[in-house]
Amino acid sequence: LAFDEVQFPASIQHVMQRLGYVRPTAIQSQAWPILLHGNDLVGIAQTGSGKTLSFLLPALIHANGQTDNRSGDPLVLILAPTRELAQQIQVVGADFCAATRMRSTCVYGGAPKPPQQREIKYGLEICIATPGRLLDFVREKTINLDRVTFLVLDEADRMLDMGFEPQIRKIIKCIRSDRQTAMFSATWPKEVQKLASDFMTNASHITL
Ligand code: AMP
Repeated sequence: LAFDEVQFPASIQHVMQRLGYVRPTAIQSQAWPILLHGNDLVGIAQTGSGKTLSFLLPALIHANGQTDNRSGDPLVLILAPTRELAQQIQVVGADFCAATRMRSTCVYGGAPKPPQQREIKYGLEICIATPGRLLDFVREKTINLDRVTFLVLDEADRMLDMGFEPQIRKIIKCIRSDRQTAMFSATWPKEVQKLASDFMTNASHITL
């Protein structure tokens, strides 16, 4: 698959040229057609594979296609196991978010709430969150997930290892069921398979 076989908007193509990306990585070649088509995806892949942009660019295009977001409530939710990964996702996507005028906000535990609460209040399209802090914000009505229609579970196996399964299940219950869902995991144990079968429909599977 070459970049120009994917119908990315010019704004995204320009960023790729500027960053010197010559060709999609293996996971991008496989994931983009599936996600751009609106299908659910399970990807077994490691960090360093180009995994982040494999879900983030389709997510940005998805969000761009929504009508105005005057409410400032997130349209895309990315769940990640740690603050470090959440921030890394934001950094890898920063130029692409800027080029498509998408606002991304990181929400994670172990840090004071007020700055994150303020950022959410200003409005966002893309929320990158660890499960515990996000569920706090949902319960406190700091954040409203009613408009989320694109959900990503990144490093699902690690999130389960860290004990986030109850929070993840509660969060997904707040998200409309006609959403698109992508799940990434380095490994494919029973618990991750169960999560996938409970929350995804007819997902395409890709393994790197
Ligand atoms: P990830 O596996 O998502 O953590 O990505 C690893 C790094 O690869 C990130 O710094 C990306 O900016 C970079 N990257 C992602 N896709 C491509 C690509 N198609 N060509 C070159 N670099 C890329």
